[in-house]
Order: sequence, then C-alpha cells, then structure tokens
Amino acid sequence: MKKILITGGCGFIGSHTIREILKNKEIELLINLDALTYSGNPTNLQDLKDERYRFIHGSINDYELVMSIIKERNIQVILNLAAESHVDRSIDSAVAFIETNIKGTMVLLECIKNRKSVGHEVHLIHVSTDEVYGSLGPEDPEFTEKTPLDPKNPYSASKASSDFLVNSFVNTFQISAIITRCSNNYGPNQFPEKLIPLMTIRALNGESLPVYGDGMQIRDWIHVTDHAKGIITAMEGLIKGIISPGEVINFGASNEVRNIEIVKQIIKLTNSSEEQISYVEDRPGHDRRYAMGYEKAKKALGWEPEIGWDDGLRQTIGWYEENSDWIDKILNGTYQ
Ligand code: NAD
Repeated sequence: MKKILITGGCGFIGSHTIREILKNKEIELLINLDALTYSGNPTNLQDLKDERYRFIHGSINDYELVMSIIKERNIQVILNLAAESHVDRSIDSAVAFIETNIKGTMVLLECIKNRKSVGHEVHLIHVSTDEVYGSLGPEDPEFTEKTPLDPKNPYSASKASSDFLVNSFVNTFQISAIITRCSNNYGPNQFPEKLIPLMTIRALNGESLPVYGDGMQIRDWIHVTDHAKGIITAMEGLIKGIISPGEVINFGASNEVRNIEIVKQIIKLTNSSEEQISYVEDRPGHDRRYAMGYEKAKKALGWEPEIGWDDGLRQTIGWYEENSDWIDKILNGTYQ
C-alpha cells in the first residue's frame, strides 16, 4: 500500500502518525486532509520536508473533495483520525461532534463504497477510543474487543456511533475497514486543553492546577508514538490479511494512573509546588476508570507498547519546557 490518505494529520496523534509512516521508504504518497479546526496545528509538522507528503486544507465532511482526492491520487488506504476529541467541549455542545465524528465518517464510508462499486478498493483504518466502552469499576476486568459499547458522554457516543457505521458498511457493502481503539495518549504536540500539557504549562507558569473532583479518575496512559506505531501495524495487518474487515484492535499500555498522581508527578518534574493544586467541580458524567486489554494486538500483530511511563512522562514534560514557542503560538492564537 503506497498511497495513503490520513485525515486529521495536523492534530496530536495524526502528526506523530505521519512522521512514523514516512519512515517507510516504500510509501509513495501521503496526503493529509485536515480542516484546521482549533486543534489542527500546522506547526506540528512545519519541520517536515518530504516530497512524498502533501497537505490539503479541507473537511472530511466534503464528499466531492474526499472523492476527488481518492480518485485522482489513486488512494489505497485511508487512516481516519479527523475528529472532535475533547470531552469537555462535547459537554458544552455536541454539534461539531455529530458533524465530524459521525457525519464525516459517513462521508468517508460513502466514498469508499462508491469507489468499490467501480472496482477501486480503498481500505479504511478508523481510529477510535477506549471511551466507547464506558466506565469501569475499581475491580472490573480491563476492556477487551468484545466488551459491549456503553458510551457515557457526547464525545464517546459520537465515536461509538461512527464505529457502528463503519461495521455496518463492512457488513452491508463488504468494504475493507477495521477499527482501532486506544487508551489515553500523551506526548509532545498535544493541544494544551488536555490533562498533561495543561498541567505542565500551568505548573511551569506558576499557575493554579485545577483538578476535577477528587482527582481519583484512572486512565491507562500510552505514549503517542506507541499508538502511531499501532495504527500502522493494524493497517499492515489488514492489508496482509492477518486481520479481517470488521475486526477491532485495542491498544493500551497496562499503565493505569490516577489523575491526581499525574499532577503530582508533573509538579515534581517541573519543580513546582503542590500548593498550586486546586480541586474544582467534577466534569458532569465523568468516567471513573478505563483500562485496555491489548492481548489481541500482541498476539495477532506482534505489537506492544515500547515507551515506559516514567521515561515517557519525563521526555514529554521536557518537550513542553523546551518548546515554549509552540506553546506561545497557541496561547496567542498565531499557530494557524
Ligand atoms: P486532535 O483534536 O489533536 O486532532 C484532531 C484533528 O482533526 C485536528 O487536526 C483537526 O483540525 C482535524 N479535524 C477536525 N475536524 C475535521 C474535519 N471535519 N475534517 C478534517 N479534519 C478535521 O485529536 P487527537 O487527540 O489527535 O485524536 C485523533 C483521533 O484519535 C480521534 O479520532 C480521537 O478520537 C482518537 N483518540 C484519541 C485519543 C487521545 O488520547 N488523544 C485516544 C484514543 C483515540
């Protein structure tokens, strides 16, 4: 598979996935279709100089545009990472989540279906999240690919809807698509509304560190590079027939950490003070715990996370410390 369309490539995970894909010299063309919403940040890729890479500013909701890219560039695989991705924003308003996460995915599926009808097969890797499985109790076993979907907030409900749509197109039209679901990512280039960059930047600036509720919410944190490698491994698994259309692959890191522990680790690594912690009203409907089982990715694809939490967190915080330009451009609005 030499001609790939990635959507949402200017975002956090998309930009890391682009860098990983281009390490493969056999790739001839990688098109990044990104609408540059608030979280789309072209500076994430500004140092990228590779003639096989092309950026197109546009939306996955634009059927004519997506269709023309697939057709004219003879695209063989789509990696769908374009999304509205922040739970808090979905609580403020779910409209953009329905538009991009559900309707946008639907546009990609329609394009794939219609190209298939003229003999052009386009594979789809639809990137989803552990949040579609809902919330775990303290003693519950971790999620597997067989865990029933039970989304609890508008963001995860929109992602679960798109997952159902993908599998409905596999079943009804026999398109070649799989779904990957990953736990919480951390690493460089994450938009500073998410926990780790938000707390790091505020800690470095000597500001208060707002912790939701009791801070005891647990997430299974994975480094973004491990996730990017997982997406690529899943793509190769689908193309080689190791995994079949309609299958789901979970990625996690067996790294369950409470939010408050993360904040305290960030405080240590940035030499700031626990007095900066300020407990604020909890997010409505806040899921308590996620934990991802990834036995299938290990057994079927030979994928395992490689970056340990302590090293990964230190490297990530170091990156935010060293890249104050990247932060300033976001804070003063000039990043786009
Ligand atoms: P992000 O918000 O950093 O990036 C999303 C990107 O999509 C941005 O570049 C944005 O401009 C683009 N985009 C939004 N709407 C678009 C549209 N209509 N057309 C084209 N581009 C559009 O998100 P992220 O954290 O990189 O997440 C990427 C994907 O991975 C999402 O599907 C998310 O659900 C999933 N995911 C994220 C995490 C995580 O911890 N961040 C974990 C598991 C899964």
